[in-house]
Amino acid sequence: MTNSLSDLNRDDRRQGKQLFELAAKLYPLCRSLTGNGVRETLSHINTIIPLSISEVPSGTPVFDWTVPDEWNIRDAYIKNDAGDRVVDFQQCNLHVLSYSIPVNRVMSLEQLRPHLFTLPDKPDWIPYRTSYYNRHWGFCLSQNQLDQLSDGDYQVCIDSSLEPGNLTYGETVIPGEVSEEVLLSCHICHPSLANDNLSGIAVATYAAKHLLSRANYYTYRILFIPATIGSLAWLASNQSAAANIRHGLVLACLGDTGSLSYKRSRQGDNIIDRAAAHILQRQPGHQLFDFSPFGYDERQYCSPGFNLPVGRLSRTPHGMFPEYHTSADNMDFLQPEQLTDSLRACLDILNLLEKNRTYLNQKPMGEPKLSKYGLYDTIGGSADIPAMQNALLWLLNLSDGENDLLDICDQSGLPFEDIASAAAALHQQGLLEYA
Ligand code: ZN
Repeated sequence: MTNSLSDLNRDDRRQGKQLFELAAKLYPLCRSLTGNGVRETLSHINTIIPLSISEVPSGTPVFDWTVPDEWNIRDAYIKNDAGDRVVDFQQCNLHVLSYSIPVNRVMSLEQLRPHLFTLPDKPDWIPYRTSYYNRHWGFCLSQNQLDQLSDGDYQVCIDSSLEPGNLTYGETVIPGEVSEEVLLSCHICHPSLANDNLSGIAVATYAAKHLLSRANYYTYRILFIPATIGSLAWLASNQSAAANIRHGLVLACLGDTGSLSYKRSRQGDNIIDRAAAHILQRQPGHQLFDFSPFGYDERQYCSPGFNLPVGRLSRTPHGMFPEYHTSADNMDFLQPEQLTDSLRACLDILNLLEKNRTYLNQKPMGEPKLSKYGLYDTIGGSADIPAMQNALLWLLNLSDGENDLLDICDQSGLPFEDIASAAAALHQQGLLEYA
Protein backbone atom coordinates (compact mmCIF):
# COMPACT_ATOMS: atom_id res chain seq x y z
CA MET A 1 0.00 0.00 0.00
CA THR A 2 1.44 3.37 -0.92
CA ASN A 3 0.15 6.56 0.63
CA SER A 4 1.13 9.74 -1.03
CA LEU A 5 2.74 12.25 1.32
CA SER A 6 -0.12 14.67 0.61
CA ASP A 7 -2.53 12.19 2.27
CA LEU A 8 -0.61 12.35 5.50
CA ASN A 9 -1.29 14.85 8.21
CA ARG A 10 1.34 17.34 9.29
CA ASP A 11 2.66 15.20 12.19
CA ASP A 12 3.07 12.19 9.92
CA ARG A 13 4.83 14.30 7.33
CA ARG A 14 7.20 15.69 9.95
CA GLN A 15 7.82 12.16 11.24
CA GLY A 16 8.51 10.90 7.71
CA LYS A 17 10.98 13.71 7.21
CA GLN A 18 12.80 12.87 10.47
CA LEU A 19 13.04 9.17 9.62
CA PHE A 20 14.24 9.91 6.11
CA GLU A 21 16.76 12.53 7.26
CA LEU A 22 18.32 10.14 9.74
CA ALA A 23 18.70 7.51 7.02
CA ALA A 24 20.15 10.13 4.64
CA LYS A 25 22.65 11.28 7.26
CA LEU A 26 23.86 7.71 7.87
CA TYR A 27 23.76 6.62 4.22
CA PRO A 28 27.32 7.68 3.22
CA LEU A 29 29.04 5.98 6.18
CA CYS A 30 30.98 2.81 5.40
CA ARG A 31 29.59 0.40 7.96
CA SER A 32 30.62 -3.23 8.27
CA LEU A 33 30.58 -5.91 10.98
CA THR A 34 33.08 -3.81 12.92
CA GLY A 35 34.98 -0.55 12.60
CA ASN A 36 34.64 3.20 12.69
CA GLY A 37 31.65 3.33 10.34
CA VAL A 38 29.63 1.48 13.00
CA ARG A 39 30.95 3.80 15.74
CA GLU A 40 30.06 6.93 13.75
CA THR A 41 26.60 5.51 13.07
CA LEU A 42 26.03 4.83 16.77
CA SER A 43 27.35 8.22 17.81
CA HIS A 44 24.88 9.89 15.48
CA ILE A 45 21.97 7.81 16.83
CA ASN A 46 23.21 8.83 20.28
CA THR A 47 22.35 12.46 19.43
CA ILE A 48 18.67 11.40 19.13
CA ILE A 49 18.37 8.81 21.92
CA PRO A 50 20.80 7.90 24.74
CA LEU A 51 22.84 4.82 23.80
CA SER A 52 25.26 2.77 25.81
CA ILE A 53 28.04 1.55 23.55
CA SER A 54 29.74 -1.83 24.09
CA GLU A 55 33.08 -2.88 22.61
CA VAL A 56 33.72 -6.63 22.43
CA PRO A 57 37.39 -7.48 21.75
CA SER A 58 38.37 -9.45 18.65
CA GLY A 59 38.97 -13.09 19.56
CA THR A 60 36.20 -13.19 22.17
CA PRO A 61 34.40 -16.54 21.89
CA VAL A 62 30.63 -16.19 21.54
CA PHE A 63 29.01 -19.63 21.56
CA ASP A 64 30.36 -21.45 18.47
CA TRP A 65 31.75 -18.23 16.93
CA THR A 66 34.66 -15.88 17.57
CA VAL A 67 34.51 -12.08 17.31
CA PRO A 68 36.55 -11.26 14.18
CA ASP A 69 39.30 -8.72 13.71
CA GLU A 70 38.22 -5.12 13.27
CA TRP A 71 38.05 -3.76 9.72
CA ASN A 72 38.62 -0.16 8.76
CA ILE A 73 39.02 1.42 5.34
CA ARG A 74 40.26 4.84 4.31
CA ASP A 75 40.42 4.65 0.51
CA ALA A 76 40.31 2.23 -2.41
CA TYR A 77 40.51 2.55 -6.18
CA ILE A 78 41.44 1.00 -9.49
CA LYS A 79 43.45 3.46 -11.64
CA ASN A 80 44.09 3.13 -15.37
CA ASP A 81 47.32 3.96 -17.25
CA ALA A 82 46.27 7.60 -17.41
CA GLY A 83 45.96 7.77 -13.62
CA ASP A 84 42.14 8.06 -13.67
CA ARG A 85 40.21 6.26 -10.95
CA VAL A 86 37.98 3.94 -13.01
CA VAL A 87 36.59 2.41 -9.81
CA ASP A 88 36.55 4.71 -6.79
CA PHE A 89 35.55 3.91 -3.20
CA GLN A 90 35.14 7.66 -2.61
CA GLN A 91 32.26 7.66 -5.12
CA CYS A 92 30.46 4.68 -3.56
CA ASN A 93 31.54 2.51 -0.66
CA LEU A 94 29.84 -0.56 -2.19
CA HIS A 95 32.78 -0.64 -4.65
CA VAL A 96 34.91 -2.51 -2.12
CA LEU A 97 34.25 -6.08 -1.03
CA SER A 98 33.53 -5.55 2.67
CA TYR A 99 36.37 -6.85 4.89
CA SER A 100 38.90 -6.67 2.02
CA ILE A 101 42.48 -7.05 3.20
CA PRO A 102 44.88 -4.28 2.09
CA VAL A 103 46.36 -4.45 -1.40
CA ASN A 104 48.55 -2.13 -3.43
CA ARG A 105 49.90 -3.44 -6.73
CA VAL A 106 49.85 -3.16 -10.51
CA MET A 107 47.86 -5.89 -12.26
CA SER A 108 46.59 -6.69 -15.73
CA LEU A 109 42.83 -6.75 -16.30
CA GLU A 110 43.00 -10.54 -16.61
CA GLN A 111 44.74 -10.87 -13.23
CA LEU A 112 42.20 -8.50 -11.75
CA ARG A 113 39.06 -10.22 -13.08
CA PRO A 114 38.75 -12.89 -10.32
CA HIS A 115 38.59 -10.01 -7.82
CA LEU A 116 35.78 -8.15 -9.65
CA PHE A 117 32.08 -8.68 -8.92
CA THR A 118 29.25 -7.44 -11.16
CA LEU A 119 25.57 -8.08 -11.83
CA PRO A 120 25.33 -8.89 -15.56
CA ASP A 121 21.50 -8.94 -15.38
CA LYS A 122 21.41 -5.43 -13.89
CA PRO A 123 24.26 -3.78 -15.78
CA ASP A 124 23.87 -0.34 -14.14
CA TRP A 125 23.88 -1.58 -10.55
CA ILE A 126 26.82 -2.24 -8.20
CA PRO A 127 26.45 -5.40 -6.11
CA TYR A 128 27.09 -5.52 -2.34
CA ARG A 129 29.46 -8.33 -1.38
CA THR A 130 31.25 -9.30 1.83
CA SER A 131 34.00 -11.67 2.90
CA TYR A 132 33.86 -11.51 6.67
CA TYR A 133 35.34 -14.82 7.61
CA ASN A 134 37.71 -15.55 4.68
CA ARG A 135 40.63 -13.22 4.08
CA HIS A 136 40.07 -11.91 0.59
CA TRP A 137 39.95 -8.67 -1.37
CA GLY A 138 37.87 -7.46 -4.25
CA PHE A 139 35.94 -4.72 -5.98
CA CYS A 140 32.25 -4.52 -6.89
CA LEU A 141 31.28 -2.51 -9.95
CA SER A 142 28.55 -2.23 -12.51
CA GLN A 143 28.73 -4.50 -15.54
CA ASN A 144 28.78 -1.36 -17.70
CA GLN A 145 31.85 -0.10 -15.84
CA LEU A 146 33.60 -3.43 -16.33
CA ASP A 147 32.74 -3.51 -20.03
CA GLN A 148 34.44 -0.16 -20.47
CA LEU A 149 37.76 -1.35 -19.03
CA SER A 150 40.34 -1.94 -21.74
CA ASP A 151 43.13 -4.49 -21.53
CA GLY A 152 46.22 -3.11 -19.90
CA ASP A 153 47.68 -2.59 -16.49
CA TYR A 154 45.84 -1.10 -13.53
CA GLN A 155 47.01 0.30 -10.24
CA VAL A 156 44.94 -1.47 -7.58
CA CYS A 157 44.80 -0.06 -4.06
CA ILE A 158 42.75 -0.90 -0.99
CA ASP A 159 43.92 1.17 1.96
CA SER A 160 42.30 -0.90 4.69
CA SER A 161 43.29 -2.56 7.95
CA LEU A 162 42.07 -5.84 9.37
CA GLU A 163 43.57 -6.37 12.78
CA PRO A 164 42.63 -7.07 16.40
CA GLY A 165 40.25 -4.43 17.70
CA ASN A 166 36.63 -4.58 18.75
CA LEU A 167 33.09 -5.31 17.66
CA THR A 168 30.87 -2.37 18.56
CA TYR A 169 27.17 -2.35 19.35
CA GLY A 170 24.76 0.06 20.98
CA GLU A 171 21.75 -0.43 23.20
CA THR A 172 19.29 1.56 25.17
CA VAL A 173 17.13 0.26 27.99
CA ILE A 174 13.96 2.15 28.88
CA PRO A 175 12.73 1.01 32.30
CA GLY A 176 9.00 0.31 32.65
CA GLU A 177 6.59 -0.53 35.45
CA VAL A 178 7.70 -4.18 35.27
CA SER A 179 11.15 -5.63 34.58
CA GLU A 180 9.83 -7.96 31.88
CA GLU A 181 11.21 -6.77 28.58
CA VAL A 182 10.21 -6.04 25.01
CA LEU A 183 13.15 -6.25 22.59
CA LEU A 184 13.54 -4.21 19.42
CA SER A 185 16.59 -5.18 17.39
CA CYS A 186 18.08 -3.89 14.15
CA HIS A 187 21.32 -4.58 12.29
CA ILE A 188 23.85 -1.81 11.69
CA CYS A 189 26.44 -3.57 9.53
CA HIS A 190 25.56 -2.58 5.97
CA PRO A 191 27.35 0.26 4.16
CA SER A 192 25.41 2.52 1.73
CA LEU A 193 22.20 0.49 1.57
CA ALA A 194 18.98 2.25 2.45
CA ASN A 195 16.08 -0.15 2.84
CA ASP A 196 18.12 -3.13 3.99
CA ASN A 197 19.58 -1.50 7.03
CA LEU A 198 18.92 2.23 7.38
CA SER A 199 15.13 1.87 7.38
CA GLY A 200 15.32 -0.48 10.38
CA ILE A 201 17.78 1.81 12.18
CA ALA A 202 15.54 4.84 11.60
CA VAL A 203 12.36 3.09 12.78
CA ALA A 204 14.11 1.62 15.85
CA THR A 205 15.60 5.02 16.77
CA TYR A 206 12.30 6.90 16.57
CA ALA A 207 10.36 4.08 18.24
CA ALA A 208 12.82 4.41 21.13
CA LYS A 209 12.43 8.19 21.16
CA HIS A 210 8.67 7.76 21.38
CA LEU A 211 8.92 5.20 24.20
CA LEU A 212 11.28 7.52 26.09
CA SER A 213 8.66 10.28 26.01
CA ARG A 214 6.03 8.35 28.00
CA ALA A 215 5.52 5.95 30.90
CA ASN A 216 5.54 2.28 29.83
CA TYR A 217 4.32 -0.93 31.41
CA TYR A 218 7.13 -3.05 29.96
CA THR A 219 10.84 -2.35 30.06
CA TYR A 220 12.09 -1.81 26.52
CA ARG A 221 15.51 -2.77 25.20
CA ILE A 222 16.55 -1.49 21.79
CA LEU A 223 19.63 -3.10 20.23
CA PHE A 224 21.67 -1.68 17.35
CA ILE A 225 24.00 -4.53 16.44
CA PRO A 226 25.97 -6.00 13.56
CA ALA A 227 24.04 -8.95 12.11
CA THR A 228 24.63 -12.47 13.43
CA ILE A 229 27.91 -11.98 15.32
CA GLY A 230 26.47 -8.89 17.05
CA SER A 231 23.33 -10.61 18.31
CA LEU A 232 25.41 -13.65 19.29
CA ALA A 233 27.81 -11.39 21.22
CA TRP A 234 24.88 -9.70 22.97
CA LEU A 235 23.16 -12.99 23.80
CA ALA A 236 26.41 -14.53 25.06
CA SER A 237 26.98 -11.82 27.64
CA ASN A 238 23.32 -11.11 28.51
CA GLN A 239 21.77 -14.50 29.11
CA SER A 240 19.85 -13.41 32.20
CA ALA A 241 18.50 -10.30 30.42
CA ALA A 242 17.52 -12.51 27.47
CA ALA A 243 15.50 -14.70 29.83
CA ASN A 244 13.46 -11.60 30.70
CA ILE A 245 12.37 -10.92 27.09
CA ARG A 246 8.63 -11.51 26.79
CA HIS A 247 8.11 -10.06 23.30
CA GLY A 248 10.42 -8.90 20.55
CA LEU A 249 10.65 -7.55 17.03
CA VAL A 250 13.51 -7.53 14.58
CA LEU A 251 13.10 -4.40 12.43
CA ALA A 252 14.39 -4.59 8.83
CA CYS A 253 13.44 -3.46 5.32
CA LEU A 254 10.75 -0.99 6.38
CA GLY A 255 10.92 1.78 3.78
CA ASP A 256 10.04 0.29 0.37
CA THR A 257 6.70 0.64 -1.39
CA GLY A 258 5.50 -2.87 -0.45
CA SER A 259 2.87 -3.65 2.19
CA LEU A 260 3.80 -4.60 5.73
CA SER A 261 4.83 -8.17 6.47
CA TYR A 262 5.46 -10.09 9.68
CA LYS A 263 7.50 -13.23 10.17
CA ARG A 264 6.35 -15.23 13.16
CA SER A 265 8.64 -16.26 15.98
CA ARG A 266 9.77 -19.88 16.17
CA GLN A 267 7.06 -20.44 18.81
CA GLY A 268 4.57 -19.24 16.18
CA ASP A 269 1.60 -18.36 18.38
CA ASN A 270 3.09 -16.24 21.11
CA ILE A 271 1.52 -12.91 22.06
CA ILE A 272 3.85 -10.95 19.76
CA ASP A 273 2.77 -13.14 16.83
CA ARG A 274 -0.92 -12.58 17.56
CA ALA A 275 -0.43 -8.86 18.25
CA ALA A 276 1.48 -8.28 15.01
CA ALA A 277 -1.08 -10.25 12.98
CA HIS A 278 -3.87 -8.23 14.60
CA ILE A 279 -2.28 -4.87 13.71
CA LEU A 280 -1.25 -5.89 10.19
CA GLN A 281 -4.66 -7.28 9.26
CA ARG A 282 -5.99 -3.74 8.80
CA GLN A 283 -3.60 -3.17 5.89
CA PRO A 284 -4.61 -4.62 2.50
CA GLY A 285 -1.93 -6.80 0.96
CA HIS A 286 -0.15 -7.48 4.26
CA GLN A 287 1.71 -10.77 4.50
CA LEU A 288 2.32 -13.17 7.39
CA PHE A 289 5.12 -15.72 7.22
CA ASP A 290 5.89 -18.68 9.43
CA PHE A 291 9.29 -18.83 11.06
CA SER A 292 12.22 -20.10 9.02
CA PRO A 293 15.89 -20.25 10.02
CA PHE A 294 16.86 -17.61 7.43
CA GLY A 295 16.83 -13.84 7.47
CA TYR A 296 18.14 -11.48 10.14
CA ASP A 297 18.85 -11.83 13.85
CA GLU A 298 15.59 -13.65 14.54
CA ARG A 299 17.74 -16.64 13.58
CA GLN A 300 19.79 -16.17 16.76
CA TYR A 301 16.98 -15.03 19.10
CA CYS A 302 14.89 -17.99 17.93
CA SER A 303 17.72 -20.56 18.04
CA PRO A 304 16.47 -23.52 20.12
CA GLY A 305 18.67 -22.68 23.13
CA PHE A 306 16.93 -19.30 23.47
CA ASN A 307 13.65 -19.76 21.58
CA LEU A 308 12.63 -16.20 22.38
CA PRO A 309 9.25 -14.84 21.28
CA VAL A 310 10.84 -12.57 18.66
CA GLY A 311 9.29 -12.02 15.22
CA ARG A 312 10.31 -9.75 12.38
CA LEU A 313 8.51 -6.69 11.06
CA SER A 314 9.33 -5.75 7.45
CA ARG A 315 7.67 -4.48 4.33
CA THR A 316 8.96 -6.46 1.32
CA PRO A 317 11.18 -9.10 2.95
CA HIS A 318 14.92 -9.18 2.23
CA GLY A 319 15.86 -10.84 -1.04
CA MET A 320 12.35 -10.37 -2.45
CA PHE A 321 12.94 -6.94 -4.02
CA PRO A 322 15.35 -6.69 -6.97
CA GLU A 323 17.24 -3.76 -5.44
CA TYR A 324 18.23 -5.91 -2.42
CA HIS A 325 22.01 -5.84 -1.77
CA THR A 326 22.73 -3.54 -4.72
CA SER A 327 23.46 0.14 -5.25
CA ALA A 328 19.80 0.52 -6.30
CA ASP A 329 18.81 0.14 -2.64
CA ASN A 330 19.60 3.82 -2.24
CA MET A 331 17.88 6.87 -0.80
CA ASP A 332 15.63 7.14 -3.88
CA PHE A 333 14.29 3.68 -3.03
CA LEU A 334 13.31 4.77 0.49
CA GLN A 335 9.84 6.32 0.92
CA PRO A 336 9.29 8.72 3.86
CA GLU A 337 5.58 7.86 4.00
CA GLN A 338 6.35 4.14 4.15
CA LEU A 339 8.85 4.69 6.96
CA THR A 340 6.14 6.57 8.85
CA ASP A 341 3.62 3.80 8.24
CA SER A 342 6.15 1.21 9.47
CA LEU A 343 6.91 3.20 12.62
CA ARG A 344 3.19 3.58 13.30
CA ALA A 345 2.63 -0.18 12.90
CA CYS A 346 5.56 -0.90 15.22
CA LEU A 347 4.20 1.46 17.88
CA ASP A 348 0.66 0.10 17.45
CA ILE A 349 1.98 -3.41 18.10
CA LEU A 350 3.81 -2.17 21.21
CA ASN A 351 0.71 -0.29 22.40
CA LEU A 352 -1.32 -3.45 22.02
CA LEU A 353 1.26 -5.42 24.05
CA GLU A 354 1.14 -2.72 26.74
CA LYS A 355 -2.65 -3.04 27.14
CA ASN A 356 -2.97 -6.78 26.58
CA ARG A 357 -3.61 -8.19 30.05
CA THR A 358 -5.27 -11.32 31.34
CA TYR A 359 -8.07 -10.82 33.83
CA LEU A 360 -10.12 -12.96 36.18
CA ASN A 361 -13.86 -12.40 36.54
CA GLN A 362 -14.56 -11.70 40.24
CA LYS A 363 -18.26 -12.65 39.97
CA PRO A 364 -18.20 -15.69 37.71
CA MET A 365 -21.35 -17.40 39.08
CA GLY A 366 -23.83 -16.23 36.46
CA GLU A 367 -23.59 -12.79 34.92
CA PRO A 368 -23.13 -9.88 37.32
CA LYS A 369 -26.01 -7.38 37.32
CA LEU A 370 -24.25 -4.68 35.29
CA SER A 371 -26.80 -1.93 35.97
CA LYS A 372 -25.73 -2.01 39.65
CA TYR A 373 -22.33 -0.78 38.48
CA GLY A 374 -23.61 1.80 36.00
CA LEU A 375 -22.42 -0.37 33.15
CA TYR A 376 -25.73 -1.39 31.54
CA ASP A 377 -28.27 0.48 29.46
CA THR A 378 -31.39 0.12 31.63
CA ILE A 379 -33.80 0.62 28.73
CA GLY A 380 -34.25 -2.99 27.52
CA GLY A 381 -35.88 -4.33 24.40
CA SER A 382 -33.72 -3.01 21.59
CA ALA A 383 -32.42 -5.71 19.26
CA ASP A 384 -29.04 -3.95 18.96
CA ILE A 385 -26.61 -4.60 21.75
CA PRO A 386 -24.47 -1.48 22.08
CA ALA A 387 -20.80 -2.16 21.34
CA MET A 388 -19.70 -1.39 24.91
CA GLN A 389 -22.19 -3.87 26.43
CA ASN A 390 -21.17 -6.42 23.85
CA ALA A 391 -17.56 -6.01 24.93
CA LEU A 392 -18.49 -6.20 28.65
CA LEU A 393 -20.31 -9.50 28.20
CA TRP A 394 -17.51 -11.07 26.18
CA LEU A 395 -14.96 -9.93 28.76
CA LEU A 396 -16.92 -11.26 31.73
CA ASN A 397 -17.46 -14.59 30.05
CA LEU A 398 -13.94 -15.18 28.75
CA SER A 399 -11.95 -13.66 31.64
CA ASP A 400 -11.30 -17.00 33.30
CA GLY A 401 -7.58 -16.37 33.75
CA GLU A 402 -6.78 -18.19 30.51
CA ASN A 403 -7.72 -15.71 27.78
CA ASP A 404 -5.94 -12.41 27.34
CA LEU A 405 -7.61 -9.35 25.79
CA LEU A 406 -6.26 -10.27 22.38
CA ASP A 407 -7.94 -13.71 22.60
CA ILE A 408 -11.20 -12.04 23.59
CA CYS A 409 -10.84 -9.57 20.75
CA ASP A 410 -10.27 -12.39 18.24
CA GLN A 411 -13.15 -14.50 19.54
CA SER A 412 -15.62 -11.60 19.69
CA GLY A 413 -14.54 -9.85 16.50
CA LEU A 414 -14.66 -6.55 18.41
CA PRO A 415 -11.92 -3.91 18.01
CA PHE A 416 -9.07 -4.19 20.51
CA GLU A 417 -9.60 -0.61 21.69
CA ASP A 418 -13.25 -1.35 22.63
CA ILE A 419 -12.24 -4.49 24.51
CA ALA A 420 -9.44 -2.66 26.32
CA SER A 421 -11.64 0.26 27.41
CA ALA A 422 -14.45 -2.08 28.54
CA ALA A 423 -11.86 -4.07 30.52
CA ALA A 424 -10.65 -0.88 32.18
CA ALA A 425 -14.27 -0.05 33.19
CA LEU A 426 -14.83 -3.56 34.63
CA HIS A 427 -11.51 -3.40 36.45
CA GLN A 428 -12.42 -0.04 37.95
CA GLN A 429 -15.69 -1.51 39.26
CA GLY A 430 -13.85 -4.49 40.76
CA LEU A 431 -15.53 -6.98 38.45
CA LEU A 432 -12.23 -7.94 36.81
CA GLU A 433 -8.86 -8.35 38.52
CA TYR A 434 -5.49 -9.13 36.97
CA ALA A 435 -5.03 -12.88 36.70
ZN1 ZN B 1 21.44 -7.45 4.13
